Amino acid sequence: MARYTEAVCRLCRRSGDKLMLKGDRCLTKCTFDKRPKAPGPQLSRRRRLSDRGVQIRQKQKVKYTYGLLERQFRRFFEEAERQPGITGDNLLVLLERRLDNVVYRLGFANSRSQARQLVNHGHFIVNGKKVNIPSYLVKEGDVISWHESSRKTEFFKSASEAISGKVIPGWLTLEKNQMTGRVYTMPTPGDVEATFDMASVVEYYSR
Ligand code: SF4
Repeated sequence: MARYTEAVCRLCRRSGDKLMLKGDRCLTKCTFDKRPKAPGPQLSRRRRLSDRGVQIRQKQKVKYTYGLLERQFRRFFEEAERQPGITGDNLLVLLERRLDNVVYRLGFANSRSQARQLVNHGHFIVNGKKVNIPSYLVKEGDVISWHESSRKTEFFKSASEAISGKVIPGWLTLEKNQMTGRVYTMPTPGDVEATFDMASVVEYYSR
């Protein structure tokens, strides 16, 4: 599966924001805190960002945060456009509903990239069926749990130990003893803690 291979901290520096791409590790040791400037020529020598530049930067921020490549991200955008309502809000909700994001939000993985890997390797079942597609969209009432064989792994053991300290969003519920999550209700754009300028993202693709 295609994915970013570049050092993820460079993506934060390039976006001009902390995107928390390494999950919990970002809280203790962050490259952006030490070197917030973009890689390459220093900002003072750069031209001011044009409107188009701002739109690109905002689009990249959302894309990097959810770990999508351009073609995947554009597919999500087109789906968001087809839905009734505000396209930017629809896009955020679609991205939040991705199974890899839900696994991360439930605290089963430390980052979205780790969550994606776990899903790819078939560690999760949704409503009793194995799902190994990170872009699978969860819906209200879905139950997400670990595959029986995955419960014997060292990773599961350490994830279960760490789960007590995790805070999960209100649209999900979690039975910590069972390591089983449930989509209590559909997410809303307000459930996304990162601040994205979705209007700029929509403008970028509407040209
Ligand atoms: Fe971004 Fe996390 Fe790296 Fe900091 S540690 S630059 S927030 S990925």
